[in-house]
Amino acid sequence: MSELKTVVCPYCGFGCRLLVDPRSMRVSPHKGAPNYGKLCPKGLHATEFVLSGDRLKRPLKRDGNRMKAISWGQAIEEVAQKLLEIRELYGPDAVAFLASSKVSNEENYLLQKIARLFGTNNIDNCARLCHEASVHALKMTVGAGAQTNPYEDIPNFNAVLIWGYNPAETHPVVMDYILRAKRRGAKIIVVDIRETRTMAFADYKLVIRPGTDIALANAMMHVIIKEELYDEEFIASRTVGFSELRMATKKYTPKYAERVTGVPAGTIEEVARTFALAGSGAVMWGMGLTQHVGGVENVLAVIDLALLLGYIGERGGLYPMRGQNNVQGAAYMGALSEFLPGYIPLTDERFRKRVASLWGVDDLPTERGLYLTELWDAIEDGTVKGLYVVGENPAVSEADFTRVRGALRKLDLLVVQDLFMTRTARYAHYILPASAFCEKEGSYMNSERRIQWSHRVCEPVHDSKPDWEILMMLGKALGLPGFDYRSVEEVTAEYFRLFPSLEERSVEELKNSDGIFLPRKRLHTWEFSTPDGKARLVAVEQVAPWEKPDAEYPFILTTVRLISHYNTGEMTLRSPSLVRLMGEPRVLMNEGDAEKLGIADGDWVEIETRRGRIRMRAKVGKAPKGLLVLPFHFKANKLTSDALNKAGTPEFKFSAARLRKL
Ligand code: SF4
Repeated sequence: MSELKTVVCPYCGFGCRLLVDPRSMRVSPHKGAPNYGKLCPKGLHATEFVLSGDRLKRPLKRDGNRMKAISWGQAIEEVAQKLLEIRELYGPDAVAFLASSKVSNEENYLLQKIARLFGTNNIDNCARLCHEASVHALKMTVGAGAQTNPYEDIPNFNAVLIWGYNPAETHPVVMDYILRAKRRGAKIIVVDIRETRTMAFADYKLVIRPGTDIALANAMMHVIIKEELYDEEFIASRTVGFSELRMATKKYTPKYAERVTGVPAGTIEEVARTFALAGSGAVMWGMGLTQHVGGVENVLAVIDLALLLGYIGERGGLYPMRGQNNVQGAAYMGALSEFLPGYIPLTDERFRKRVASLWGVDDLPTERGLYLTELWDAIEDGTVKGLYVVGENPAVSEADFTRVRGALRKLDLLVVQDLFMTRTARYAHYILPASAFCEKEGSYMNSERRIQWSHRVCEPVHDSKPDWEILMMLGKALGLPGFDYRSVEEVTAEYFRLFPSLEERSVEELKNSDGIFLPRKRLHTWEFSTPDGKARLVAVEQVAPWEKPDAEYPFILTTVRLISHYNTGEMTLRSPSLVRLMGEPRVLMNEGDAEKLGIADGDWVEIETRRGRIRMRAKVGKAPKGLLVLPFHFKANKLTSDALNKAGTPEFKFSAARLRKL
């Protein structure tokens, strides 16, 4: 056996590390943190897509309806030239850059550096589609937009409240931490809109009506406040906003919440008391909370619940569980249109000028750039003419993707940097072949803010290049200062200089460790990251879904992730073991609904919303009446609603739909 190389799993934000044999490309689990010898099926088969015969071989340029192969020199020179021409004609904001939650910290850092030195804050990544509502709510309440505690704290808490999140399917290895808590006697409470795999491990299973999360959270707080179960000292010394919260939750009696959510009032009371009396607790949530027009408010409600009980620091943690392996890193590196690296606002002149000086210029643009989800309007109305996409696939991942595809066709310049001929790449004028995760070196940050180094296992295939090398060539060709890196480690060292807690750390230390937490393991232990050090309790009211079921479209359509698949399927659908494991995708529906429509398990059906229709086989089973549950990896976003919440995330989880047997 050759020497095993340690890499970061290219899939979910849990951040397992894999040991890969360079000769056989076989994967085994890393024995240390964070996965301690465990992997889910995706991690175990993570190298299969790397070996796919579909990998892009060399740079391609559009020539009418064909793509023809060109050299790297020609590709980079022409792309840079065309970007500069657009800037000359229409200004820097006529170009937008899409970073990726799948590429390394260094690569996200370089792309946002290119965007900002080019003169625009039009830099975003698909964190916008998942947890941006969490970032906004966390910034508003505790002052920092990230998970507060490490995974290792979960088994020590006496209660784990899992809300709109199905870790048994989406982050299987985190279940090990939750089950360790359960074995210690912790109460596991799961809130969701259907019976999930995670509920099999729950002490309390609360199946609520879609879009009624705030009514339930407010009712739990109503009970906690009425019965004086909250942490009075914590509230008085470390928070503001309690009286407003008390007033706002007054009307949310358990009886009222029962009518709204469908959960019996007695259960709401019992769960509120159990969580409050546990003495410590984690709150973990996923996209079941964020992907709603009231996504920010939903997250605020569960944060309020934790703060009310003082569940922060040693006594609790807030866990917005990230979907992709570097979604946390992409955001921390500044690949968001409203933040500089470290979630620092663009308006923070001192920090902005510090970054500018590190990059060899006087200042950087200050106007917020476009959110990823605002791009399509801007392309349609002609404001944005050029789009540079690294490792993203908006033609499949965006809500109402028919409209997005139309916008992509309108661009004067679309450049796609990726591993495969993705659906988005089909619209591109230039396609640049990128190397896969195990063909390059770099660092990634998992959901708990642990930065980990991923080592190169093998050489890049064909004529592909690591994304950071491509971006370095592009930066130079654009004439931007500071793109003379001799190694990826020099980029790492540069981003380390932006964060006070990393200034004294070295890249070597990172490479030889189980990771470094940014800025430290636990946040807010003594004071919050707000200007006065106090957390804000922000009272919220239930926000109605943008589109309600009616006589024409009587069902609610929601989307979910499957254990064997990942995002738009470009990687996992090229992994034969995972395809075998999952079989054919199906739409899950309620037995009674199916019977009424004459649909049997396995029948072909057509699902339709106001945006389009798709065909799929039905799975008749455990779904609440009126709900259709669709895996999002395939064509689901042809149907989903692009109504946005305050953080710019579409309402993927709630669309009015109808369905018929074919
Ligand atoms: Fe990879 Fe997530 Fe599975 Fe771990 S749990 S192996 S990080 S997909």
